[in-house]
Amino acid sequence: MAKSAEEVHPVKSFGWAARDDSGILSPFTFSRRATGAEDVRFKVLYCGICHTDLHQLKNEWGGSNYPLVPGHEIVGVVTEVGSKVQKFKIGDKVGVGCMVGACHSCDNCANDLENHCPKAIPAYNGTYHDGTTTYGGYSDHMVTNEHFVIHIPENMPLDAAAPLLCAGITTYSPLKYYELGKPGMHVGVVGLGGLGHVGVKFAKALGAKVTVISTSPNKKKEAIEHLGADSFLVSQDPDQMQAAMGTMDGILDTVFADHSLLPLLGLLKSHGKLIMLAAPNKPLDLPAFPLLMGRKLVGGSTIGGLKETQEMIDFAAKHNITADIEVISMDYVNTAMERLEKVDVKYRFVIDVANTLKAA
Ligand SMILES: [Zn+2]
Ligand SMILES: [Zn+2]
Repeated sequence: MAKSAEEVHPVKSFGWAARDDSGILSPFTFSRRATGAEDVRFKVLYCGICHTDLHQLKNEWGGSNYPLVPGHEIVGVVTEVGSKVQKFKIGDKVGVGCMVGACHSCDNCANDLENHCPKAIPAYNGTYHDGTTTYGGYSDHMVTNEHFVIHIPENMPLDAAAPLLCAGITTYSPLKYYELGKPGMHVGVVGLGGLGHVGVKFAKALGAKVTVISTSPNKKKEAIEHLGADSFLVSQDPDQMQAAMGTMDGILDTVFADHSLLPLLGLLKSHGKLIMLAAPNKPLDLPAFPLLMGRKLVGGSTIGGLKETQEMIDFAAKHNITADIEVISMDYVNTAMERLEKVDVKYRFVIDVANTLKAA
């Protein structure tokens, strides 16, 4: 059983935690470790609310340990660095995403793919090397090994940059790895939520032609005029779907709700790739024949390694890509979770932690 941080850690910390699978968050006093030689300590300024937070708060994937302090889209300013820290100094703007540790000895780690390390340690609800539970960014400060800390470029707004640390890298990485984010490619993005809306921005900035695929026709104007998509496809409209058959090189599927993959496979050209970025609760409905015809591929992807995450943030800064956000106060977080459940947000909630988290 994991030791609580309080038993072994000396630095007082404060945040909001869920105490059970009701998922309701409330103020929580805990502690964090002293700044180790390779650690960066930073004051949290903003933290995005990811759909994963909601799943884990309510233990929908199992394995949630309470009290649970969520948050893995964290930005802040460095307040202290350990004696061996090389990349950061006090005052730097930094970010921490989904991971705070890995084994550093497996093939994945050796190839800058810490996200696929079997021993990767999540930013919250994980067990750190010292046996304590990790607590996320719905809190006053973080202390993180510098390997897992990202530089936030000077010109980026910190609140709108926060969601890139999860939603951004989750869409950028597959566009690069599956060679879809480049000129000449036609990329479909299914679902226009937290992931989808930044996926559109990255795919466009990387040079692809982008079509948003959505169940709701009323998102068309937004997708094209605001997010910069080239076209819009209503997935419930058989005529539109028929006309778009065999036109796409790849599709990023960001939909958490259960859905059939067959119509999406039909949109792909031969050798087209359907990439799953969300994890619906039920197993995928995936008939084999449509894969055989045209040598199509269904793949997956999740976040990215630390090297690529830095590359993504630097690319985003250069191309003025940020998330579209609604900034909220800490005491609004339970309402925000209810709204997120109803997909009532454009497109990401970000908590103004520094200005609204009040000490108990
Ligand atoms: Zn996330
Ligand atoms: Zn590893």
